[in-house]
Amino acid sequence: MNLVFLGPPGAGKGTQAALLTKQYGVPQISTGEMLRSAVQQQTPMGLEAKRHMDSGALVPDEVVVGIVEERLAAADCVNGFILDGFPRTVAQADALSVMLRKSGKEIEHVILFDVDTSVLLERIVGRRMCRKCGRGYHVCFDPPLEAGKCDECGGELYQREDDQESTMRKRLEVYEAQTAPLKAYYSTGGLLRSVDALGAIQDVYGEIQKIVGRD
Ligand code: ADP
Ligand code: ADP
Ligand code: ZN
Repeated sequence: MNLVFLGPPGAGKGTQAALLTKQYGVPQISTGEMLRSAVQQQTPMGLEAKRHMDSGALVPDEVVVGIVEERLAAADCVNGFILDGFPRTVAQADALSVMLRKSGKEIEHVILFDVDTSVLLERIVGRRMCRKCGRGYHVCFDPPLEAGKCDECGGELYQREDDQESTMRKRLEVYEAQTAPLKAYYSTGGLLRSVDALGAIQDVYGEIQKIVGRD
């Protein structure tokens, strides 16, 4: 199950990746989560990434490509991976294709989260993340059993610094300019599959299961 999730911020990529991981044991590779953890640990890479992330811009390609290459080489990726939030530029997509070819792997499907921009803001501003395990929630659409506390691990829930209306607008512009061209890129390669990401979480999951053929 070698999957790439493509879609604007707030479309539901992380939520769906976590469901697939839970059911099939294939790792979710979220570049956003990996970068946030580097920021938290204040590594040199984290400090550089933070400047870009806080403003809603992308972190330079070399940085994320390096992280992903290392992560894909880990033992738990032998049976597959879900790339959640990578690639985000054509240069990253080219780099991914080179690194997969080198290791004898290929992308099975690129799943495009088709969503109307109008729902993204309410999804993003209501998003909460677990500090310990990184699981995402939504205050209305996917609330934890106990407010402020992760169902999975009991960790504290927090709101991401970049999940504000002002940064959101910039992230959407960046998506349109730099990431949306990947639709044509993967459509040409015959890999693109679309899901209606406006539906409820379980309905979107049902569509993805049909695509991956393991329902
Ligand atoms: P992405 O990883 O694409 O940025 P997330 O999976 O983090 O998006 O989802 C953004 C927010 O919207 C989260 O708070 C999540 O709980 C919520 N969410 C995800 N999918 C849906 C859905 N289908 N309907 C309503 N809310 C959703
Ligand atoms: P979202 O869930 O809103 O799509 P992510 O958690 O995937 O956001 O990413 C948060 C931030 O991390 C991005 O705004 C960007 O600054 C940085 N980032 C994550 N993935 C990449 C990537 N593949 N290329 C460049 N920057 C990235
Ligand atoms: Zn947790």
